[in-house]
Amino acid sequence: MNFVEIEILEKKLKEITKLSLKQVKKIAFNLLNLSENEIFNLNQAISKARENIKKCKYCNSYTDKETCEICSDKKRSKKYLVVEKYDEVSKFEEIGIWNGRYFVLEGLLDTKTSQEIVNQNIINFVALAENVDEVVLALSSTLQGQLTMQQIKKLLLDKNKFKNVFTLSTGIPLAAEIEYIDPVTLKESLINKVKI
Ligand SMILES: [Zn+2]
Repeated sequence: MNFVEIEILEKKLKEITKLSLKQVKKIAFNLLNLSENEIFNLNQAISKARENIKKCKYCNSYTDKETCEICSDKKRSKKYLVVEKYDEVSKFEEIGIWNGRYFVLEGLLDTKTSQEIVNQNIINFVALAENVDEVVLALSSTLQGQLTMQQIKKLLLDKNKFKNVFTLSTGIPLAAEIEYIDPVTLKESLINKVKI
């Protein structure tokens, strides 16, 4: 049987999480089975996380302080790895070979839709990357990824006269998204980074 209320809940969950319908149906079913007390606790947990977790003022990573742990770490080199999403930072941290910093773009440029947040983040990054040694653009090899990389490269050159820009090596399949790449391939593609 289909209930409008459940369909609305599933639609909302799908919008928020970008998960498949099958996955959101499972979450919706679990939510419906929660007791009043469990709903209250879940609400509290969401509110607490929203209150205490914010974006790092330098790199857009999540942090419970003004500046994230990585940006505050003086031992990190003056290199930047630019990623699309927050969770890709932990993916690169796990492979353990990057000792520089990160910058989260929070999306990619698109020819069809206006991308105010991404555009602003690109401007912020170029300003931040004024005195750095190296920039690696670890973005997907999709059309949007390519477009974004070209734009960042152009601005780094125009504004900072900066040319030391790399991308991940071609070990990554065309149009692949970083989040679906296994750690071994990702590590290889970072080691064999290519200058653009
Ligand atoms: Zn940071």
